[in-house]
Amino acid sequence: MSELNMKDLVSLCKRKGFIFQSSEIYGGINGFWDYGPYGVELKNAIKKFWWDEMVRLRDDVVGQDASIIMHPKVWEASGHVEGFNDPMVDCKECKSRFREDQLKNKEKCDKCGGELTEPKMFNLMLSTQIGASEDSSSTAYLRPETAQSIFTNFKTIQKTSRKKIPFGIAQIGKAFRNEITPRNFTFRSREFEQMEMQYFVDPESETDHYEYWSETRRNFFEKVGIPKEKIRFHEHGDELAHYASKARDIEVEFPFGWQEVEGIHDRGSFDLTQHETFSKEDMKYFDEATKRKFIPHVVETSIGADRLALAILCCAYHVEDLTKEGGKQDLRTVMRFKAHIAPVQVAVLPLIKKLSDEAKEVEILLKKYGFRTEFDTAGQIGRRYRRQDEIGTPFCVTYDFDTRDDHQVTIRFRDSMEQKRVAISDLASYIQGLIVEEM
Ligand code: ATP
Repeated sequence: MSELNMKDLVSLCKRKGFIFQSSEIYGGINGFWDYGPYGVELKNAIKKFWWDEMVRLRDDVVGQDASIIMHPKVWEASGHVEGFNDPMVDCKECKSRFREDQLKNKEKCDKCGGELTEPKMFNLMLSTQIGASEDSSSTAYLRPETAQSIFTNFKTIQKTSRKKIPFGIAQIGKAFRNEITPRNFTFRSREFEQMEMQYFVDPESETDHYEYWSETRRNFFEKVGIPKEKIRFHEHGDELAHYASKARDIEVEFPFGWQEVEGIHDRGSFDLTQHETFSKEDMKYFDEATKRKFIPHVVETSIGADRLALAILCCAYHVEDLTKEGGKQDLRTVMRFKAHIAPVQVAVLPLIKKLSDEAKEVEILLKKYGFRTEFDTAGQIGRRYRRQDEIGTPFCVTYDFDTRDDHQVTIRFRDSMEQKRVAISDLASYIQGLIVEEM
């Protein structure tokens, strides 16, 4: 029906317990968000799918889970202490603060038209103190990206996993950036989660790993439910980061425009060379096949789990007008999540409360097969279907009086609203089949 308005999505997320402000009872804290019961299921499903695609289903990528706080030297070697800055300006009149590179008009305040200060470079890393003393030797940083721990662990993991180049190391974890202007709901937060993979390659290899990973990652977006026409590449020209020799973003069309959700970077030998210089540890790899020793080059894929979750929420949100001629206005809000990432995959609904015990057994059976389920007995069946539509449940299973005799339940499909009778004994495999088909 109508174009998505971010306000409606933010309100649904809060009303249904997907995402809301952190520390809400104290008025919230800018740039920090909490995921409620449905939100955490959605985000966990996204992370699990990424992990399956990037690690579990491949022979050439292994995982790790490193600490958030690392040796401060890491951030000197990576260039973050010196160069992880954004230009910040303040309005002299209304005191609003802006990132200068995001201002439409660099001369005047976007809000009140007042005069702006000269831009100051502002380091985005959040720091903390380790141990009891507060001198500078104990200053540490909350990691601004997860990638660096993959570089510092490269040699250890390569040896222990006995992987040969080309191979990758993947990780999901929190990252922190003291963003000057957090905005667009969770899009730009100060605490967020990244899903990153560094792929180590022979610099002389003929294979174009950068193109391979760009295409593989683009396909992933469709698999999680972003329509093809809302995905595009943005090639970096002048705005290349200090570590990258080639870079492109995978952008998604949000209600607030085309925005980066993932970065694909050819980082060359920059990071491993830097860590070799700063740590004095040999970061070279000996290639048995060619008898050459070299610092591997790296192709990175880096995506924010929260940004992807937001993109999925935006694309899933639909309002349909089901008003019948001459009838009362009837709007149906439906979150059209793909079934494999929907927070609830199957809702089990006894037609009336009296059938709850038997219906519960069907739910327990589905849980044993690993489906995310919900049991709802409250209200008319039609109302319950609509409640499930709003949280994006693709399948509702209704247990009625006939079920007692024929051992069949009714499946109601979220998108078509059609219904079908299925034998309880076939239910799990039938639903599983539908989920896999859509992946
Ligand atoms: P931007 O230009 O939007 O600040 P970036 O180019 O600095 O992003 P990268 O350093 O390439 O981002 O980080 C990789 C991914 O991490 C991004 O594509 C994004 O999905 C996620 N990410 C980065 N910063 C944030 C943030 N402040 N909030 C949420 N996700 C983020």
